[in-house]
Formats: sequence, structure tokens, C-alpha cells
Amino acid sequence: MKFKVIFMLLISGLFFSCKSAYLDSKKSPVILDISKETDENAFVNLKNYSNDFGFDMKYATEDNFLKEQVYPCGECFLRVKTIKSLLNANAAFLKKGYRLKLFDCYRPKEIQKKMWQIVPNPTYVANPKKGSIHNRGGAVDLTLVDSTGQELEMGTTFDFFGREASHDYQNLPEKVLQNRQFLKEIMLENNFKSFDSEWWHYNLNDSEKDKISNQRWKCD
Ligand SMILES: [Zn+2]
Repeated sequence: MKFKVIFMLLISGLFFSCKSAYLDSKKSPVILDISKETDENAFVNLKNYSNDFGFDMKYATEDNFLKEQVYPCGECFLRVKTIKSLLNANAAFLKKGYRLKLFDCYRPKEIQKKMWQIVPNPTYVANPKKGSIHNRGGAVDLTLVDSTGQELEMGTTFDFFGREASHDYQNLPEKVLQNRQFLKEIMLENNFKSFDSEWWHYNLNDSEKDKISNQRWKCD
């Protein structure tokens, strides 16, 4: 009898670990209310909680510094608490006639290793031994678009690995500095912090304490 119980526990353990190895990227037929999600640390898909974001998930294309498609499809998974803050930030931008457009969200640890092999420079890519906040579901890479979907001028492209991408680089047109400041101000007001060397990268406060994940997602 005892063995039977242990066996059953082993089987159910296997079942749950297999189940959690993949994130579910099916779109909900209705927009869900994030405030109803009680597990702040669960990984969920942003598209199920809002239609108000723009997406250009660069690692699901070859248009990135790896020159390779490393995600099977462009999904934006984040922890529930990150999405709550991101929805608040986007609501503040929408009031002013703009919206956030995402380039990258949660990133499985295996992809981080691949990035580090190509750019082993901690100013731009986190060492996979330490892990990035992207691997913890607390980081977003994004920009702002206007009501026509046009990206605001930010001075460099996303993933530009050079000084011009940093927040303290001032030798840029006034409009670019204002746009970066506009993005930064509202992100900081909504529980995010900026990252010095990349104008597009924001971390949810305190998310460095969260666990690294290597869960992948399946495409529809
Ligand atoms: Zn980033």
C-alpha cells in the first residue's frame, strides 16, 4: 500500500513537472481581468489581459543581433505582478495619446546562454550564470508609439550596443532626450526601474529576487 502511494506521488509529480515545462500561449476569447489573478508570481501572457499594446517581438524574427529566430513565435509572457505594473504604465501613456510597444518580455534561460555566447559583455547581455531579469519574468524591452502606431524617435534602434543607447548620453537631439525622459518618467512612476546602458530596458522593482525560469511556450 505504501509503495502504491509513493508510486502515485511520483507519477503525479512527473505529470505536473511536464505540464509546467511549457507555458500556454492560447489566446483567451475575452480580455481577462489581471486584478483577479491571485498568484502574483505566475507566468501569464500579456495578450490575454489587454489589446492596447503594440508588439514587435524581435527574437521571433531574424531582425535582432543574433541574426536568428530564437523564439518559435512572438509571445509576451511575464509574471502577473509585472503585467499589473505594465498595464498601469500603459494606461498613463494612453491618456497622453501614446502606447507601449514591446520588443521582448520573459526570456527562457537557454536563450540567455545563446545571447551570451554571441555578446559576452555584461554591459549589454546578462551572464547566464547570474541570469537576466528577463529570465525572471520581471523585465521588458519596449518603446513608445503614437496614435498612428509610429515609433517615437529614441536615438538608436533596439539592441544598439553602444554609448548612444545609454541614459546618460546627452549628445542627442532635444526631441530624443525628451522622448526617453517621457518613457522613463512614467515607467518609474509605475514600479519599474531603468537600466543605464539601454533606454529600452526596464526591470520591475525587486524582481531580481525572483527565480530564473527556463519554461518555453508553444505556438497555436
Ligand atoms: Zn532587456
